[in-house]
Amino acid sequence: MNKLDAKIPEGKLKDKWSNYKDKQNLVNPANKRKLDVIVVGTGLAGAAAAASLGAMGFKVKSFCYQDSPRRAHSIAAQGGINAAKNYPNDGDTVYRLFYDTVKGGDYRSREANVYRLAEVSNNIIDQGVAQGIPFARDYGGLLDNRSFGGALVSRTFYARGQTGQQLLLGAYSALNRQIADGNVVTYPRTEIMDIVIVEGRARGVVARDLITGEINSYFGHAVVLATGGYGNVFFLSTNAMGSNGSAAWKAHKRGAFFANPSYVQIHPTCIPVHGEFQSKLTLMSESLRNDGRIWVPKKKEDAEAIRLGKKRPEDLSEEERDYYLERRYPAFGNLVPRDVAARAAKERTDAGFGIENNPNKEGVFLDFKHAIERLGKDVIEARYGNLFQMYEKITDDDPYKTPMKIFPAVHYTMGGLWVDYELQSTIPGLFVAGEANFSDHGANRLGASALMQGLADGYFVLPYTIQNYLADQIVVPRMDPKTQKEFKEIEDEVRERINKFMNIKGSRSVDSFHKELGKIMWNNVGMARDAEGLKKAQESIRKLRKEFYNDLRIPGKSDGINTELEKALRVADFLELGELMATDALVREESCGGHFRTEYQTKEGEALRKDKEFMHVAAWEYAGENKEHIRHKEELQYEEIEVKTRNYKTA
Ligand SMILES: Cc1cc2nc3c(=O)[nH]c(=O)nc-3n(C[C@H](O)[C@H](O)[C@H](O)COP(=O)(O)OP(=O)(O)OC[C@H]3O[C@@H](n4cnc5c(N)ncnc54)[C@H](O)[C@@H]3O)c2cc1C
Repeated sequence: MNKLDAKIPEGKLKDKWSNYKDKQNLVNPANKRKLDVIVVGTGLAGAAAAASLGAMGFKVKSFCYQDSPRRAHSIAAQGGINAAKNYPNDGDTVYRLFYDTVKGGDYRSREANVYRLAEVSNNIIDQGVAQGIPFARDYGGLLDNRSFGGALVSRTFYARGQTGQQLLLGAYSALNRQIADGNVVTYPRTEIMDIVIVEGRARGVVARDLITGEINSYFGHAVVLATGGYGNVFFLSTNAMGSNGSAAWKAHKRGAFFANPSYVQIHPTCIPVHGEFQSKLTLMSESLRNDGRIWVPKKKEDAEAIRLGKKRPEDLSEEERDYYLERRYPAFGNLVPRDVAARAAKERTDAGFGIENNPNKEGVFLDFKHAIERLGKDVIEARYGNLFQMYEKITDDDPYKTPMKIFPAVHYTMGGLWVDYELQSTIPGLFVAGEANFSDHGANRLGASALMQGLADGYFVLPYTIQNYLADQIVVPRMDPKTQKEFKEIEDEVRERINKFMNIKGSRSVDSFHKELGKIMWNNVGMARDAEGLKKAQESIRKLRKEFYNDLRIPGKSDGINTELEKALRVADFLELGELMATDALVREESCGGHFRTEYQTKEGEALRKDKEFMHVAAWEYAGENKEHIRHKEELQYEEIEVKTRNYKTA
């Protein structure tokens, strides 16, 4: 039986959201304070949701595992946030942003959600300006824009290379105001370990205090998960070291379907891997592709000479360089979407043109020579100064003088918990926002659209849809987690799980397992996948999981700070999620967006979709321990968009 109802409102695409808002149920102001909402996560999605729900009068409990809500991973976002304001007057519209997003996602996202996202995008910028976000401005003082991949207009608002940080400071100040007013209570350094379901509805969470190790439960009439993405399943990624998929995975095991887990974004411009002991990769923002040109040497001998340090990139003349993106995709050039740019880099390095002296010879150049000649160093410094500084600190190379070395790396997960139009999961009362939901980005997210989606979810969608859900919940009295049996049962399960981990007393560190999992994932479920590799990944992960439970060693105790225990609990979930990612990729016998199956490609090496069989969201249901997941489908219908093969060669 298909249990998926996306609850898309009636009416024409452009009227759907207005129709929804006109007819949704409301909660009277005096009743709002009788309703508790738990918001897990204080990144852009969670902080925006908690601040907005608090301002509306609901009683909000806000959780994060960092020591301060403002340290959430969103702070790392560099390049910018999209909106269809059309300030540069270059032809942008709400429809065009919607169109670019659906096309960028290779026609694997839900039309109605994406249209709403484009529609509210402009409100986010107004909200940010009202909060005092220091968005970049042009000489005349007006908000400035730059370009990101997959669009022929400039619609990206930015605050140098620190857009996420500035937006998060805005959301955090809005949150603080609600804390001061008593509408929001925050619980930092508190990790949600499980979700509590009472009579089929999400009613709370069980959490571990990361300082004392205490296990406590919290009640909410509704629960929001805004817990971010699971890119760290690959061990090496651009995500913050703590980012994990555990809260979403626990919700999944309690009944929330997991959608499109294999849709992962590999970002084309990261600093290449250096060696075996690295635990983190660094992003070089996509904004750099506005002015930087990507190339490799035309001749393999030159590539080898550069790798061996016998030649410098500056020694190669224009004729000796292959600006392969400009050559292959004349219309979009260096600004093709991320999946296309990443695959093109892999194609060149696989063919022997890589320029970095690492084990796989993986690296290409991102060169600012022409931009500096055209615009002057000052302009480039004003646009990207902090990114250039960061690059120089890490590599000891000066990118004003010599091209940056870059290569694709895991960056973002388009998969996540399945949600309907209201952002509600298949567990009633459990809402999911930001990168944690399966999102509006289909099989590939366009740059600067994650911040847009997280803030749209938190500031402009959830405040309506949660209210609609809570309207008939005013009759439900607050539950006491100390006496309600469902809370007690899950608390006991959590304690048992922790004891089990502490008692394995094996010989291997958590990181050694995580690293091994990461290698399996990168080699078989990474930029290029095939049936053989995916089956191998499934098997290897199962084997590794067994070993994990036999040979894991966690030093210290569980009743205090224990970062190894924290990591072990997260890696245990990655070891299950990783297998589902491989399974999802195996069943999807087509290529689309970031999911590239080598068996399904065009003669030119581009992704070959199979719309008849796969134009759907795959939503996986957990069927119990050691049982196979059940695959459900949400068919995707496009009424306002003609589904085509993506083309970035001509406009
Ligand atoms: C280096 C980098 C640069 C980027 N630049 C851009 C950009 O320029 N533009 C753009 O649009 N996107 C960008 N992105 C993507 C974007 O930053 C993220 O997708 C987005 O910030 C995610 O926001 P979020 O609110 O969904 O989650 P996060 O910011 O990841 O927040 C997750 C929150 O959940 C909490 N949490 C998680 N699990 C638990 C748990 N079990 N218990 C308690 N709390 C929990 C965490 O403490 C945290 O507060 C970038 C990503 C990276 C890695």
